[in-house]
Amino acid sequence: MNKIKNYENSGIPGDDEVLFLSLGGIGSIGSNMYVYGHRGKWLIVDYGIGFAGDNIPGIDITFADPKFLEERKEDILGMVITHAHEDHIGALSYMYDKVDCPIYATGFTADMIKHKLKDGGFSSKKLNVLKTGDKFKVGDFELEFVEMTHSIPEPQALLIKTSVGNIFHTGDWKIDENPVVGHCVNKDRLNEIGQEGLLALVGDSTNVMSKFCSESEGDIKQGIYETIKAISGGVAVTCFASNVARISSIIDAGIKCNRKIVLVGRSLFRVIECARNNGYLQNLPEFYEPEDVVDCNKKDLLYICTGSQGESRAGLARIARGDHRYVKLGTNDNVIFSARSIPGNEISIATVQNMLVERGVHIITPSDAMVHASGHGAREEMRELYKMLKPKLCIPMHGESLHLSRHAQLAKDVGIKKTCILNNGDVLLINKKESFIIDQVYTGEMVLDGNKITAIDSSAVRQRRKISYGGLVVVSVVLDDHGSLLAIPNTTLEGIAMACDNEREKLTEMIEDSILKLSDKEMISDNTVKENVRIATRRYIEKKTGKKSQVKIHLARVSV
Ligand SMILES: [Zn+2]
Ligand SMILES: [Zn+2]
Repeated sequence: MNKIKNYENSGIPGDDEVLFLSLGGIGSIGSNMYVYGHRGKWLIVDYGIGFAGDNIPGIDITFADPKFLEERKEDILGMVITHAHEDHIGALSYMYDKVDCPIYATGFTADMIKHKLKDGGFSSKKLNVLKTGDKFKVGDFELEFVEMTHSIPEPQALLIKTSVGNIFHTGDWKIDENPVVGHCVNKDRLNEIGQEGLLALVGDSTNVMSKFCSESEGDIKQGIYETIKAISGGVAVTCFASNVARISSIIDAGIKCNRKIVLVGRSLFRVIECARNNGYLQNLPEFYEPEDVVDCNKKDLLYICTGSQGESRAGLARIARGDHRYVKLGTNDNVIFSARSIPGNEISIATVQNMLVERGVHIITPSDAMVHASGHGAREEMRELYKMLKPKLCIPMHGESLHLSRHAQLAKDVGIKKTCILNNGDVLLINKKESFIIDQVYTGEMVLDGNKITAIDSSAVRQRRKISYGGLVVVSVVLDDHGSLLAIPNTTLEGIAMACDNEREKLTEMIEDSILKLSDKEMISDNTVKENVRIATRRYIEKKTGKKSQVKIHLARVSV
């Protein structure tokens, strides 16, 4: 592939080209943010969060650094949101003001976005509500929502028409012939789009490792019913709150089995409200909150819980720890995991499952019964989509490197002439004849650290990671103006396995020695004293514990 460095127009998309780049979402699953450029203007698709995993202590979520867009704020036409999953809308709560542009989404997605904007203290006045399948214009981009199927209502692919040609951005999708909520994929429209000619397809890679087809929500509905029917004790089902079809299936099973539906987790109420506002989940029985049913026999109840990913603050983890005020599960009770793990969450999920098992709860996972279907198309579905759309170019997105490369291989296998695996920040130029990378722009990851937004490589986050590995030593030293010690150095050790008093005394002696051996001239330099104490302390701790600890020195000078 050609790589033209210093291409003059890389910051300003020309009239006869479309530029495509991702600021997040290529090379990892999560933090989606894609950008299209044409005729000097930019269109954003999605702005979501990623889960941080366990390698960043104290950090739960990450999202793309929008610096590239902030520098071009006046040329941003708008942001189209494909669907309301956290990895596509979650960053709006924290970062919307950085782009502050019109947002385009269908009804259910828009309602979920309104909550996100409100959570962040942002106005929704630039939010434009469209219908599934709508055609609309944003600047020189002619856009069309094409409804797909996924694990949330109203998942839209986006057909992007420009004077250069058409691009199909799949969003997250599968082909579900019985989606329970919403419509089946409109294959006639997809075939038409293919016949009209497609320059490129930017496509979801999540499930490329799965061989056949994803299961249908309709089959899962039956599986959940049969599983619950066979249970005589208490039963709780956990799934993603946003999976409205799944919630509908669980409620349906509960009604058929004469169980009252009890919702555990605030986000369920939010999603159900958004779903009902948009015509889904109509004609349902009354929902109960856990405190309403404390006197009921558990065999008459069906709990629907948040926390399928092992989130420690969610309803299910609280039940597993035994600290949920109103819901207690134990022997004769069952928890159905109607979800699979998002990569990175496996340990948290196993922790919750183990805690439940230790209470005597019986666990049912997708390996035991038909209680979960993926929301992403497997290889057969991907092949089918390529056969309908026949793009000239395939650009895999929404996947880790392995997924991207398998996706590219699959596209080649079905006869797609060209595939292009990008990194976040690579600027791909697409014109009528060819496509090539012209530049690499700044990308970075931001994290939410408590209530502060910071870069993932900020000193606070880096320090925390180092301290979590090797612990922290704080040394306080008091000297007079000439460098004489006025008190025994004070040490505080956090997270270091060196409890023996003798070793602590030795450490103090080492610190004193490191100061006493300094020359008169060195003694009067604060930096020299600090550095010598730091090195002596670090070496001693490393010798005793085998770990490199973080060492901080407080030096005070007192005139006597
Ligand atoms: Zn996604
Ligand atoms: Zn999704």
